[in-house]
Amino acid sequence: MQNKESSEYDHLFKLLLIGTSGVGKSCMLMRYVDNNFTNNFYNTIGVDFKIKSIFLENKNIKLQIWDTAGQDRFRTITCSYYRGAHGIIIVYDITDRESFDSVKMWMSEIDKYAQEDVIRMLVGNKCDMEDKRAVSYEEGEALAKQLKLQFIETSAKLSTNIEQSFLTIAKNVLEKSQNSVK
Ligand code: GDP
Ligand code: MG
Repeated sequence: MQNKESSEYDHLFKLLLIGTSGVGKSCMLMRYVDNNFTNNFYNTIGVDFKIKSIFLENKNIKLQIWDTAGQDRFRTITCSYYRGAHGIIIVYDITDRESFDSVKMWMSEIDKYAQEDVIRMLVGNKCDMEDKRAVSYEEGEALAKQLKLQFIETSAKLSTNIEQSFLTIAKNVLEKSQNSVK
């Protein structure tokens, strides 16, 4: 992973955003990388990934964060998308029970296509819409515990926990890569 010739960064991590269409994956990415939000469905066609450089535990880390580019509309993502992924964020919408019920389906897709030890995390997005909530925080937490994932609720709209969720997965990926070097 390290390239001494171009020491522009110490690590390059490929992260994926996965989840049912409409849960807010593109908005989370836009909020994190461009600090922007739109009320419209963010049209991802033609945009495969965004880059964010961060400094973590004394390392320059380049995050290459992939969005599904509308493939999620077909409920399944081509297996090439998963190739080489270090971390996967599974997103559901706390106002959409069906998106929460689909988490296990996404998990089995990941089991099928991603490398076995890929770091995963569960995110319940749109936590600003408390009045329309259909999935309690406790349910999200319990599912994450059952699947042995870290869990966080976010709002791309209000920027709640967005940076924290990307930093958490980056930290976990970094930890794992350092452990495997030792
Ligand atoms: P994707 O299909 O998962 O990429 O979903 P999008 O990012 O395109 O978002 C789908 C819709 O949800 C859009 O209308 C967004 O404005 C809206 N949305 C995304 N994130 C949030 C959020 O945190 N809060 C609220 N209230 N709406 C959101
Ligand atoms: Mg999208």
